[in-house]
Amino acid sequence: MKERDRNSEGALASLATPRPATLKRINMRRFLEELRLRGPSTRAELTRATGVAPPTSSSIIADLLETGWLEAADSRVTPKGRPGRIFRLATSSAQVVGVLIQIERCFVAPAGLDGIPRKEDSVSFPTPRSYSELLATLAEHTQAFTRDPTRRCLGIGLGVPGLVDEASGRIALSPNLHFLDGQTLGPDLASLTDVQVTCTQEEHALCLAEQHLGKAKNLSDFAVLDVSAGMGMGVVSGGRYMSGRRGFAGEIGHVTVEPNGKLCGCGNRGCLETVATDSAFLNEVRARIQGDITIEEALSQSQKGQIDIRKDLDRTLDYLAIGIAAITNLFNPEAIFIHGRLLDFDEQAAKRLTEKAKERALPPSFDEVIIEKAQGNKLYGALAGLLDSVFATVGPRLS
Ligand SMILES: [Zn+2]
Repeated sequence: MKERDRNSEGALASLATPRPATLKRINMRRFLEELRLRGPSTRAELTRATGVAPPTSSSIIADLLETGWLEAADSRVTPKGRPGRIFRLATSSAQVVGVLIQIERCFVAPAGLDGIPRKEDSVSFPTPRSYSELLATLAEHTQAFTRDPTRRCLGIGLGVPGLVDEASGRIALSPNLHFLDGQTLGPDLASLTDVQVTCTQEEHALCLAEQHLGKAKNLSDFAVLDVSAGMGMGVVSGGRYMSGRRGFAGEIGHVTVEPNGKLCGCGNRGCLETVATDSAFLNEVRARIQGDITIEEALSQSQKGQIDIRKDLDRTLDYLAIGIAAITNLFNPEAIFIHGRLLDFDEQAAKRLTEKAKERALPPSFDEVIIEKAQGNKLYGALAGLLDSVFATVGPRLS
């Protein structure tokens, strides 16, 4: 064998075989991820799920307990009739903070390392109208948690609308909150709070939420279409989130469908976002009843039979179907999850939307695709984005 071949073989061998310390870190991360997916579990359950040897499992759990990542909870009786101690991701000694910025309101919610927000400690406030005011308000509302002496705070996960460079935390463009354009919200908040801040673009957040807590736990090809205020899309293809070169992929809402249509927040006219979202639907309802109404009021009044929204809903679903057909043709996903309220207005809405989209999509691409309401929300996703980077400090994830 030539010297060069021997060297390259050696390099490959060292890449393929992790050193014991690395292997242990990989296993520690696996245990954290398993607990995140399964919820509180016994040692036997974790050993079975990860496939490690029982002594290794005991040693990993002991290390994670000692370093504060895990906590022992109550015992429960196992199928063999013996009481087994239950372990969970730390919730009483450590915390993270989720922050969601929306057009009208902002939300701040602390959570344990399981990523489940503590609702009783969460706050919400109207979105400030300038960047400096937003930054100051976020710093004020998060410091109750970042400076909490009883629970170590491991970071803030920000869910941000618009085109976000997640690596740098810079918001390139936020079509519905222009004061964020060009701002480095992640680093700016980190310097005020002295904790790690991760920025997760809101459609990416929805995909993470669906993967960790929703219906996409076992899916490797799916899309989440956000139709709440604006329209955005997150796509996971072959198990990987498609972010594009700088994280700006997925802006299907700003594809033109009406060349001379309504002015969009992005400056263009007739974008899909202007005709296929909760906001677009609400505009139709408002024009018809000639009055102001919120989405909750419209839902409640339509359920009581006080207003008939069927025509407005169908018109919105017609346009939404164009977007769904495009997604199936482009990405051939197993499922498309809709985040928004449109499907709440009629129990047949998802079925009608599927039929309308089927008429427009290429039949082989559309075959067996599931279209239903998303279960996750953006706050869960912002927390999941932060926990991904917090858990990465324990060890790498094998995927
Ligand atoms: Zn637009």
